[in-house]
Amino acid sequence: MINDPIETLPNTSVITIRRLKSIGINTFWDFLNYFPSRYEDYSLISPIDRLQEGETVTVTGKITDGKYAVTRNGTRMQKFKLEDGTGTVELAWFNQPYLLTLFKPGTQLSVAGLVKRFGNKFSLEPHEYEIGEPSKHTGRLIPIYPEKRGLSSKLIREKINYILNQLDHDRDQLGNELYPEEILAFNKLIDEKSAYQNIHFPDNKNALNKSKQRLAFDELFIIQLTSALIRKEWEIQTVGHKFDAGNTHMYSLQKFINHLPFKLTASQQKVWEEIKYDLTKTKPMNRFLQGEVGSGKTVVAALGCYLAYLNGYQSLIMAPTEILAQQHYQTLTNLFKDSPVKIGLQTGSQKISNFKSQNSNCDIVVGTHALISRKFSLNKIGFIVIDEQHRFGVAQRAKLKEKGINPHILTMTATPIPRTVALTLHGELDLSVIDEMPIGRLPVKTYLVPKLKREAGYQWIKRQIKEQGVQTFIVCPLIAESETETMQSVKAVTKEYEYLKSYVFPELKLGLVHGKLKSKEKDTVMNDFKKRKYDILVATPVVEVGIDVPNATIMIIEGAERYGLAQLHQLRGRIGRGDKQSYCFLFTSNDNHDVSERLKYFTVTNQGRLLAEKDLIIRGPGQIYGQMQHGYTDLKIASFTDYSLIKQTRSAAEYFINHYALDKFPGLKERIERKKVEEVSRD
Ligand code: ADP
Ligand code: MG
Repeated sequence: MINDPIETLPNTSVITIRRLKSIGINTFWDFLNYFPSRYEDYSLISPIDRLQEGETVTVTGKITDGKYAVTRNGTRMQKFKLEDGTGTVELAWFNQPYLLTLFKPGTQLSVAGLVKRFGNKFSLEPHEYEIGEPSKHTGRLIPIYPEKRGLSSKLIREKINYILNQLDHDRDQLGNELYPEEILAFNKLIDEKSAYQNIHFPDNKNALNKSKQRLAFDELFIIQLTSALIRKEWEIQTVGHKFDAGNTHMYSLQKFINHLPFKLTASQQKVWEEIKYDLTKTKPMNRFLQGEVGSGKTVVAALGCYLAYLNGYQSLIMAPTEILAQQHYQTLTNLFKDSPVKIGLQTGSQKISNFKSQNSNCDIVVGTHALISRKFSLNKIGFIVIDEQHRFGVAQRAKLKEKGINPHILTMTATPIPRTVALTLHGELDLSVIDEMPIGRLPVKTYLVPKLKREAGYQWIKRQIKEQGVQTFIVCPLIAESETETMQSVKAVTKEYEYLKSYVFPELKLGLVHGKLKSKEKDTVMNDFKKRKYDILVATPVVEVGIDVPNATIMIIEGAERYGLAQLHQLRGRIGRGDKQSYCFLFTSNDNHDVSERLKYFTVTNQGRLLAEKDLIIRGPGQIYGQMQHGYTDLKIASFTDYSLIKQTRSAAEYFINHYALDKFPGLKERIERKKVEEVSRD
């Protein structure tokens, strides 16, 4: 019953079904998990003779009169009188003629709304009504749902109420608890069924809070348990060969480190120790390395590749785009120039059939993420590094296993992720963080530019370009909230490009790059920019981050208010990569107080993690990653800022795993399976 399709709901039109499906509601279960965004309190039921102006109340009585009226400015009204034995109150709706047929005199009606007074006459401004006694739309705390695709709260309420009633008849559903008794007791959780009942139709505020607690616990617990189970599965797997980092290898590693053109930062050192420790175990590494742009993740990954090489194994390094793969290839070639380590580059244009012959004698092969889905067969892959991809999860690992390899895997990202988010969404991975920048790196100077100073800003940039020979990024505003870049933003960026070229910087060379270009074309423009064929690159925000153009020291971000702070930080990360001072200018098209407070915080904060944490508090996680990064879902009812509940559910999941077998808890098992399917479909 809980998995019944919504098509089996009575009295539900095809259009409604279609709309529900479009917002992801396919089954009764989905419906129950469509939670209210807020509640209205209509629980005060008042006799008509006790009404007080300004109160929000529910009145229940009989319709005595109904008529059609037109206001002075021509709006059509439906006016009624409602009588309850203590008095009469007037009700008026606008433009809802069908109410005249619905509320015939004598109809028993409950209405919730705001009491108004004209002279000594009371009227009620109706917010909700229902025929009969108060039950689900009036006379209590009433749920208000996110009203998408023209689906009204009233309709959603009706359907959910129906489903909850069905559950009541069907005792087995939600009747068997998900958890062992002591997990419920220890975490002071109410039972699941009352939780669902009260999240939609709360008896009172206390019951509502308890329901929220229970459901938030469930949500996080399922995530944590899923991770814990994956972790456990991985723990029993073994790699082909355990790397040795002792004796002669230790000596070689040290020599390599000593010959680097720089000294490792303490943070790099610490992370390298963590990675090295993993690499010398038989259990495959599943580590997630987080570090600001420019914090030096590549060299740490290179050390891992070197250790693999010393042990006779090959490494794969994968980047999201071809141009980044080339960049890595160059960096590694440099790092290993005095060593016998052979490095190969696998680009999209090369034939797959040549892959083996070209790369089988390489110790490190660099390519794009597509490498993973290729039918490659290298001799001995021992270590895989994946740059800038968050979700290298269960599905990808399984794919590798199908190919018969079970390597150590290191994923890396420059995306700032708040600690609580990492603990929740990457719970199955071990986390390493590089949290300091190499010394001597100059932080980017960031300014919020008022409208009046735009022109002066352009002139300043012009001088910098002419006098210092530096380059500039101009990032055009983020337009659609949709996932893919729309034609609209391409049009906008093209227009801005034409404008800048003709009117603002006519004597300079401008390039244009946006998401609708083919990836070859994009790479060409980026490469030309790198080769200084352009002074200024006009770009849309979705264009790949990570590209290294040390000579680009200036960035303008248009419409800065539209971004989350973490997103802004990622954009800013494209400059400040050389030893020259870099400058970032924020232009806004809307600068109310909140916007400028937020952006001012950005101008004085250079740490991505702090910015991400601020975002999480101000805008919620959906906003942090927004268009820039996919694969992050928002929580439905729990919160990423709730560190204590995240910790609590994590230890509850540990406890469960250590004391119980999932098979004994079919409800929970089903929930986990569902979660895994969601995860994989997101990958
Ligand atoms: P990211 O973490 O963004 O991938 P990279 O690994 O590309 O950063 O490193 C950025 C730059 O910093 C490179 O030019 C690299 O050679 C340099 N670098 C890395 N580690 C150090 C260090 N400890 N001291 C100085 N420069 C370093
Ligand atoms: Mg990098």
